[in-house]
Amino acid sequence: MTDIIEYMKNRDPYEKEFHQAVEEVFETVQPVLERYPDYRQAAILERLIEPERVFLFRVPWIDDQGQVQVNRGYRIQMNSVIGPYKGGLRFHPSVNLSILKFLAFEQVFKNALTTLPMGGGKGGSDFNPKGRSDQEIMRFCQSFMMELFRHIGPDTDVPAGDIGVGAREIGYLFGMYKKLRNEFAGVLTGKSLGWGGSLVRPEATGYGNVYFASEMAATRGESLKDKICLVSGSGNVAQYTVEKLIELDAKVVTLSDSSGYIYDAEGIDAGKLDFVKRLKNMRRGRIREYTDKFPQAAYTEADPTLDHNPMWNHPANCAFPSATQNEINDKDAGNLINQGIFLVSEGANMPSTPEAIKIFIEKKILYAPGKASNAGGVAVSGLEMSQNSMRISWPREEVDNRLKGIMKSIHKTCLDAAAEYGEPGNYLVGANIAGFVKVVNAMIDQGVV
Ligand code: NAP
Repeated sequence: MTDIIEYMKNRDPYEKEFHQAVEEVFETVQPVLERYPDYRQAAILERLIEPERVFLFRVPWIDDQGQVQVNRGYRIQMNSVIGPYKGGLRFHPSVNLSILKFLAFEQVFKNALTTLPMGGGKGGSDFNPKGRSDQEIMRFCQSFMMELFRHIGPDTDVPAGDIGVGAREIGYLFGMYKKLRNEFAGVLTGKSLGWGGSLVRPEATGYGNVYFASEMAATRGESLKDKICLVSGSGNVAQYTVEKLIELDAKVVTLSDSSGYIYDAEGIDAGKLDFVKRLKNMRRGRIREYTDKFPQAAYTEADPTLDHNPMWNHPANCAFPSATQNEINDKDAGNLINQGIFLVSEGANMPSTPEAIKIFIEKKILYAPGKASNAGGVAVSGLEMSQNSMRISWPREEVDNRLKGIMKSIHKTCLDAAAEYGEPGNYLVGANIAGFVKVVNAMIDQGVV
């Protein structure tokens, strides 16, 4: 195991996020490898860290001033052993091969946990959508799809949204795919309702995370009612996490974006959330504007010189990091615990550093890794694929009930696997082992390919 990790680091020394994700999984699956020596024979670890295919391409487009801009596009087809590659597209200036490989690697195990037949992939671009007009976004999406279309398909690879890619971008991407292929196919998920989307898909990641957190709380005889919650981000995942928490009578006091965070001691109610949705999804404004509308709330500008994020240092019971990777470090984890947190459920992918996770586990916090707790989004994407294949749409209640059932089943799967391997209550170990075993057994069944 150490040799493989060393080999991976020496071979691609700049892929720090990818190394972090791989190490986190490999460290926890050691007992499985000891129990099943066949896995070593089949060079499973070596194969898992090598994507089946990687595409890197030029995305030229013309901005509103008539200038030609060039971005880099990517698609990582990581593992298709249990179904077509499935995973989002991220448009953010920080996007690089390391970040997309980490996301694709996580996606493989997450998708396995959903029980739906989906392999793992991820893609995106270093394109920054902030401040771009609708026309610029459309031209960029069209140019991106002009290359991507030849690598994806309903039975091959089905991308979805992620940071910077929401319903608007999925629409432009789908339109171009349809024109190029001359076919109306379920090739992307997160589509709008009027043309092949699924009810509850926009809500699914946030709602699913809260369903998972409720299951965790119940193991200690608790519920989320009246709990004070810290939520980071203010995008898709954060908004619907807050919506479901409000419905369950919890009190959410924070939201953030990359410029800073707001703290509203009175709690964010349905009306305030509605303001945030309009601010972020339609006006595409900054979270600081929340305090113009609700002056009792405080805004704190992000300060990258600090060794911690003050947002994680308010009295609270639960935390739902829902912005981006590595947003909670060891200092933040310590602050969260000192402020009374008993539950951390990750909406974002890998938002906690390895040092932070270690603290949560040592202190016996109910800690859910993103690959389990945020799997609701891809699960409903899987349900969108099923509805597209059958050419029918399920009613809202049916999709929501299926989502609830899937989150409940992932929760149980994690607890069962953790207990079986001598780490009861450790969701990190449970999620990694359960996902790993499912993927690896399928790889062994399908031979060396
Ligand atoms: P989104 O709608 O684009 O929102 C992202 C939010 O996070 C925004 O508020 C953004 O602020 C903030 N953010 C992004 N990068 C940041 C950074 N470097 N520092 C601080 N804040 C940052 O994206 P999303 O779909 O909610 O995704 C959020 C997280 O959930 C990601 O980790 C994603 O991979 C994960 N996830 C999403 C889904 C899904 O279905 N959408 C499913 C599973 C997991 P700015 O506007 O200032 O950038």
